[in-house]
Amino acid sequence: MFREAARRFIATEITPFHGEWEKVGVVPRELWRKAGDAGLLCPNVPAEFGGPGANFLYNVVITEELGRAGATGPQFTVHSDMVASYILSFGTEEQKKKWLPGMVSGETIGALGLTEPGGGSDLKALRTRAVRDGDHYVIDGQKTYISNGQLCDLVVLACKTDPEAGARGVSLIVVETSREGFQRGRMLEKLGLKAQDTSELFFTGVRVPIANRLGEEGAGFKMAMHKLAHERLIIAVNAVATCEAVLEWTVSYTRERKAFGKLIAEFQNTRFKVAELTALVQGVRVFVDRCIELAVDNRLDSTDAAMAKMVTSELQCRRVDECLQFFGGYGYTLDFPIAHAYIDARVRRIAGGSSEVMREIISRKVFDG
Ligand SMILES: Cc1cc2nc3c(=O)[nH]c(=O)nc-3n(C[C@H](O)[C@H](O)[C@H](O)COP(=O)(O)OP(=O)(O)OC[C@H]3O[C@@H](n4cnc5c(N)ncnc54)[C@H](O)[C@@H]3O)c2cc1C
Repeated sequence: MFREAARRFIATEITPFHGEWEKVGVVPRELWRKAGDAGLLCPNVPAEFGGPGANFLYNVVITEELGRAGATGPQFTVHSDMVASYILSFGTEEQKKKWLPGMVSGETIGALGLTEPGGGSDLKALRTRAVRDGDHYVIDGQKTYISNGQLCDLVVLACKTDPEAGARGVSLIVVETSREGFQRGRMLEKLGLKAQDTSELFFTGVRVPIANRLGEEGAGFKMAMHKLAHERLIIAVNAVATCEAVLEWTVSYTRERKAFGKLIAEFQNTRFKVAELTALVQGVRVFVDRCIELAVDNRLDSTDAAMAKMVTSELQCRRVDECLQFFGGYGYTLDFPIAHAYIDARVRRIAGGSSEVMREIISRKVFDG
């Protein structure tokens, strides 16, 4: 029932308007409030903090349905699966009461600020500083590629509280964007994900109470590593759902289109290629489902998550390209969802940890135990 409701919401509130949002580069705030009303934001937040109190499987359903519909504009996953998830896992009772109800209703939109112009893969090298001044931090720095950058009301921000301490000098601080000294930069013009407001963010002498810090001072890197596994699984879930949808579109199209007096679906090349893709996608689906089970039990480790992200995003990039080929010239026009799926896929091998960083994580386990 929840899946049907999510699918209906996407079909009526997102798909018809997605093309318009792609032109302006951002989805309307109103959509967030509607999604909140429909129970599609932060489904796993418990009732005491204003949420529906469901489990992670509900987050999975939303991500799958967005992936299936090619609805890449609304960044509900960063909001629900990352920002709310950090607050839920590491926040105090007071912090949860303060921020989560608004995130569930869609009044408050969340962003995650890890990446900086100087680099994203090496989180411990970040340069944004948070210096203590009485019972406040004073934050100076810059972030880039931040999803929900134009819309966000709060940012879970990775800062250096001790620049000499490497990974142990990183802390996570929740910064409300209404604070003086916070500024949104330009919305980045991207290859795909055209309706997403990926942006630069600037922090100049932003004063934030120490009470806004999540967890202990210096524990930010550890918390981010823990949560990145979750983020990578969600990316994998979205990738598999997208691959499944792309296969469906390909089968339908090749069953209707003719060349040389035959349906494209009747050529052996089509049948073999689609058969091979179906088997590959089924294979990763089973692995990702297993990872979801582990995540529900809180047993998903960073290597499993890295494997899931790497294999699904590589599969998505290469195989969407192969499916697009069956659409001929139509596949190259933005009137067809397959063209969007093609340009939107490329980022999966970069964002949330690149494929190379995933290989690094996996090889550490393989060689170093
Ligand atoms: C559309 C989009 C949305 C994003 N949303 C967010 C967001 O909401 N919040 C946020 O904080 N970030 C976000 N990001 C940033 C994203 O997570 C980073 O782009 C990613 O982590 C890579 O960092 P980088 O771009 O700085 O590349 P770099 O770290 O500069 O890496 C460049 C290249 O070097 C390779 N490389 C790096 N280290 C190694 C290594 N040890 N071994 C081998 N190769 C290596 C990388 O694989 C990559 O190919 C987003 C990015 C995009 C494109």
